[in-house]
Formats: sequence, C-alpha cells, structure tokens
Amino acid sequence: MLRKIIYILFFILAVLLLYNSFYWWLSLLSFLFIGVLSWGSFDVRLSFFTPIISKSPYPKHRTIALTFDDGPTNFTPQVLDLLKKHNAKATFFCIGTQLEKHPEIAQRIFEEGHCLGNHSYSHPTKMGFLSVEEVSSEIEGCEQVFFRQFNFKPDYYRPPFGVTNPKIAKALKRFDYKVIGWNNRSLDTVLKSEQAIFERVYKKVKSGDIVLMHDTSLKSVLALELLLNQLSVDNYRFVTIDELLNK
Ligand SMILES: [Zn+2]
Repeated sequence: MLRKIIYILFFILAVLLLYNSFYWWLSLLSFLFIGVLSWGSFDVRLSFFTPIISKSPYPKHRTIALTFDDGPTNFTPQVLDLLKKHNAKATFFCIGTQLEKHPEIAQRIFEEGHCLGNHSYSHPTKMGFLSVEEVSSEIEGCEQVFFRQFNFKPDYYRPPFGVTNPKIAKALKRFDYKVIGWNNRSLDTVLKSEQAIFERVYKKVKSGDIVLMHDTSLKSVLALELLLNQLSVDNYRFVTIDELLNK
C-alpha cells in the first residue's frame, strides 16, 4: 500500500515539475516522502522494506503468541514460572550479549519447550544507521552465540526496535530468517503500571495475535501475570511462533 502512495507522490511531483515550477510544492512533497519512508521504517506491520510476519496467517480460535524481547535477564525465570503455571508456551527474542551473561536461563527456556529467536548481538541503539556489513555482523554475532552455546540455529529474527530500512533488508537477504514483528504491542517499557500494560494488550487482543513484551522488568512480569490470568479465563491458548505459523 505504501509503495503505491510513494509512486503516486512521485507521479504528482513529476506532473508539478512539468507544468509548474513552484518550489514549495517540491518541499511539501519531499516532506511527505520522508514522512512515508520514516513510517515504513518504524511500523513493522507494513513489511515496507522486507517481508515481516506480524500476525498468524492462519489464525486459530483464541490462540496467540506471546513474545519477549531483550533477554535473557534476571527477570526471565519469573516469566518462565508464570508461563509454566498457565501451561503457556512463548517465544524469546534474545540478545547475544545477554545469552553470554545468562546461558543457564537460556538453557531453561529451551528445556521448557519455548521458542528462541535472534534479536541481534548487542542491540545497538543506532541500528537504523548501521552499514549492511555492520547489520550482518550483528545478526551473525547472535547466531554464533546460539551455535556455540546450544548447537542451535534460530529460524526467526526480530529487528531491534522493529526498525527496518534498505540496508537492514539487504543484510537479511544474506541469511535465511523469517522476520517476526508484532501486531499487539504492550508498550511495557514505556507505560507506567502493570495495569496500563495489561489493559493496552487486553482491549485489542484477538486470535492470531503476536504480542510484544520484554522480559526485562518486574512491571512486565506483573503485567504478564494479569494477562495470563484473564486470558486463561477467556480460554486463550498461548503458543510459540513456530506453532502460530503452522496451518
Ligand atoms: Zn529489543
């Protein structure tokens, strides 16, 4: 859809340049163009630069995938305890440096039947400004930690901050990952209370959702507890990304 908007903008620009030399039109369209590109970079649901899976293509009744980014951390065992209590499976998008710090927690994630994915080696804040080589080495770095520690190659990659751009898309072509986004974002790193996080996810939850959370704070753990309690009452099932994507 966005590609079409860009083509239309270019077409309008071309027509304006042919018939009209008012430069303010040019400025306006440039701003629109940059706006659309920025939107495409930050909204994972758009698959703007690379194909991104943001929800189940085959939603099953009351089945969702909970995903946790940026771990493992000291909060991950509490997340695992809650998941176990509710017989829930989830997917953890791990950072390479965190895997190196907490290999025993990652081992537990494996043993308890959850899915693990690549979330870059060091989660650089400047991810959107890295070269193709730098992005590739971030992806490969995390992959190598998984391989060294667990003899395991993840199938799924989640871009840090959900940011994609042409360089990240080019780097991803060198690998064989399914790129996983989300369609239900908890904002658990931003919202102030576990109740607010719970309400944000719960009010729009539906079958086939991929829910984005983080196993990085007590607030997220408490929000998860609220969600698991309520969604279990509502008869939801919690599955890994693997299972969510199966027909
Ligand atoms: Zn992250």
